[in-house]
Amino acid sequence: MTITASTRVLTLLGDSVAHSLSPVIQNAAFDAAEVDGVYVAVRCAAEDLGGFMKGLARAGGGGNITLPHKERATTVLDRASESVRRTGACNTFWGDDEGRLHGDNTDVAGFRAALRAFLEGPARGLRVLLLGAGGAARAALMGLLEEGADEVFIFNRTVERARAVARQIGGSQARVVDVAGKLKGQSFDLVVNSTRLGMAAGDPLPMDLEVLQRVGGVMDLVYGVDATPFMRAAERFGVRATDGAEMLVQQGAASFERWWGRPAPVEVMRQALRERRRA
Ligand code: NAP
Repeated sequence: MTITASTRVLTLLGDSVAHSLSPVIQNAAFDAAEVDGVYVAVRCAAEDLGGFMKGLARAGGGGNITLPHKERATTVLDRASESVRRTGACNTFWGDDEGRLHGDNTDVAGFRAALRAFLEGPARGLRVLLLGAGGAARAALMGLLEEGADEVFIFNRTVERARAVARQIGGSQARVVDVAGKLKGQSFDLVVNSTRLGMAAGDPLPMDLEVLQRVGGVMDLVYGVDATPFMRAAERFGVRATDGAEMLVQQGAASFERWWGRPAPVEVMRQALRERRRA
């Protein structure tokens, strides 16, 4: 790809961004789709976020937002998607011809696509246990409900955060599990880990699956170079499991589509991630 004076600049803004795989995935997609853009990661302090987002969007660019700025980013937008409004988080931004700043939370679309791929069918009627109550949990809860899950039980270390997520997004289908002991002997069609546990070496597992009577499948939203510890634990327990790699690709594909107004080369993005993980 040749970078010229008209090349659009798309950035990942966060702190830290050094280990992000998004530049690998997006630049592979830009090349394959032959769009005139370049994707770079920029470490950005909270007080610089609004300036970066507005300036880039007015210059015809845009980008993604990652930790810890996804919530703050919502306060800068002129036009927020329904996913942003419901989850209170923005991970994708771009500008329009009138200079307005648009934002979406493509973690929701990414989760939904990854869920469908994992289930190989609809989520209608599922009984789900959702571990965690941070930004990823909000996207997962919205995605689960939009995909037709019947009941979502939320368990989080800080129970108040779980209550807030259930209130804001879950309606009557979300229930909060306030004490771990109440999970004993229960059955779930799907367990989703949206805590950070598994990102750092030496983290404990987000839960002991053996306390459950039956688990249909496990989706860990954490991803790394290898299978995550929770994914491995599920497979040892005889349960089909996946990590967060497909969600990462799919949220990136949805972002690509917001910026370029055309379908993303998803298989190219998947392959770029696979190659980077192998390397
Ligand atoms: P976040 O908003 O900071 O939330 C972190 C969650 O982890 C909270 O529920 C927190 O519980 C819990 N937690 C942290 N340390 C814990 C501990 N020691 N014991 C028990 N619970 C603990 O982060 P996030 O944005 O939701 O991200 C969570 C994970 O999802 C990260 O690994 C991230 O990489 C992943 N993610 C993946 C994708 C993807 O595309 N695959 C997209 C988004 C996020 P408290 O509320 O009690 O603090």
